[in-house]
Amino acid sequence: MLLQTHEKIARGIGQELYLKNNVTSSLVIGSVSPDSWRDYPHHQGGESKVKRRILNSRNCHLKNEETHCAIELGIAFHYVADRCVSGPSSREGWAHTNYERQIERCPLNGTSAGLIGRDETINYAFKKSVGGNPCTDLSMAFEICLSVANSVFSSKFPSPDIRNMIDKAGENLKKHATKRVYFVWFLALILLSAGTFSILTLNPLIGMLVGLLTVIIEFFSLIIFPVGKFTSYQNIRHVHDVINMWKVLTIFLPSLFILLSYMFNVLLLSLLYCFFGYFLQWCCNFYLYYRSGADKVGTYIFWYLDWKTGNELN
Ligand SMILES: [Zn+2]
Repeated sequence: MLLQTHEKIARGIGQELYLKNNVTSSLVIGSVSPDSWRDYPHHQGGESKVKRRILNSRNCHLKNEETHCAIELGIAFHYVADRCVSGPSSREGWAHTNYERQIERCPLNGTSAGLIGRDETINYAFKKSVGGNPCTDLSMAFEICLSVANSVFSSKFPSPDIRNMIDKAGENLKKHATKRVYFVWFLALILLSAGTFSILTLNPLIGMLVGLLTVIIEFFSLIIFPVGKFTSYQNIRHVHDVINMWKVLTIFLPSLFILLSYMFNVLLLSLLYCFFGYFLQWCCNFYLYYRSGADKVGTYIFWYLDWKTGNELN
C-alpha cells in the first residue's frame, strides 16, 4: 500500500480508539517505517515479523510504555495492510501502483472484531483477504488492524467475573494444599534423597547429575504450594508453570531412568526409589492442579495478562 494509506489506517485507528495524540503519531511512524527498510516483499509472508511485533507491542503495553507499544504495533500493521492488497502483484509495476492509488481513494470503514487474548489476536492478524476490489482490500486491512489494536490496548487485567474465578481457584488451592499433601511431598523427598544417595555410591558422576537434576526440579516445583503473600493470580500462575514442567518430565524422567539402567548399569532399586519419589510428587501436583480448578482458569490467565510466553513460539 501507499505510504499515505498506511498513515490513513493508523490515524483512523487512533480516532476510533480515542488514542492520545502522541500514541497515534507513534502508530503512524511505525506504520510507514518498513518501506524505508526495503526488506521486500511485504505483500506476502512476514508472519513471524507480524507475530513478533504484535507480541512486543502487548508486552510494552503491559509495562506502560505506550509510545514504544504504538511503534511496534504500527510496524505490524504495515505488513498486515500490505498483505491485504489483492490486486496485481508488485512485480507488475504500473498496474500494482495504479491499484494502490485506487485503494488510497477508498473510504475507511470497519468495526472491531472484539478479539480476546494472544492466540485469537495473532490468528486474526493473518486472516486472508478475500479481496477482489480496492475498497474491500482497504476495509479488510482496516478491520484487522483495528481489531488487533483494540486487543493489544485492552485492559491489563481480566474482567471482574474472570478475576472472581481466578480468586476462587486460588482459595481452593489453599484449601486443598493440606498437611497430608505436604506430608506426601516430604515422603517423596526422602525417597528421592535415598535413591540419589545410593546412585552416588554406585556411580559418583551419574549420582551427581541425578542429584543436580533433583535439586532443580524440587526447587522449582515447590512453587505449586500457595504462599500467602502472593495474590491468587500469582499462585495459580505458579501452578501452571509447574504443571507445564511436569508435563515435559512425564516423558523425560521415565526415559532417563530407562537409559540410566541400561547404559550405566545403575542399580534398579536406587532408580526405583527416585522413580517412586517423582511419581508421588507428580500426583501431588496434578491433584492440586485439578482439585483447585486451576486447569479451568488457565486459559484466562494467558488470554489477558501473559502474552510474553508467545515470544518463544516463533
Ligand atoms: Zn510495504
